Amino acid sequence: MDLTQYIATIPDYPQKGIEFRDISPLMADGNAYSYAIREIVQYAQDKKIDRIVGPEARGFIVGCPVAFELGVGFAPVRKPGKLPREVIEAQYEKEYGFDTLTMHADAIQKGQRVLVVDDLLATGGTVKATIALIEKLGGVVAGCAFLIELDALKGREKIGNYEYKVLMHY
Ligand code: IMP
Repeated sequence: MDLTQYIATIPDYPQKGIEFRDISPLMADGNAYSYAIREIVQYAQDKKIDRIVGPEARGFIVGCPVAFELGVGFAPVRKPGKLPREVIEAQYEKEYGFDTLTMHADAIQKGQRVLVVDDLLATGGTVKATIALIEKLGGVVAGCAFLIELDALKGREKIGNYEYKVLMHY
């Protein structure tokens, strides 16, 4: 199935000069949404995954159904101030300055095998900070999966040697 027909491109959003890739039409189509999820589930199948980790907010939309299909748990990565119990933090570099992501301190047990799932890989800052959070808790990053990679932004360089899967390239 050609999933790109379900991705909307919005010029100059959220800022002038940015082309925003919107997965809402894909989510709105039951066949396309389940096809995309099943592709990621298939990628994860032989990796002995114990946990899915997804950054807010679209990482939940893609990651939770993958966790459900694999029969494993899901742990959210969130902006500061959103998680109610003890958290750990990781900083990442944005275009101007730094941002912080958090995860509950008991979200991953030592040695658990984790798949990171998000809608889109851009500069790679989000996935890099997410990997740092998982490894701080002793988790093993067994792979990463995205619906979309924006190739020109070179996020793959931040992923380095970790395995990753992408369904659509722009
Ligand atoms: P990165 O940290 O630069 O790789 O940005 C990836 C994060 O920003 C992901 O969590 C995406 O949801 C979000 N993001 C960046 N650009 C886009 C876009 O064009 N469409 C949808 N989400 C985006």
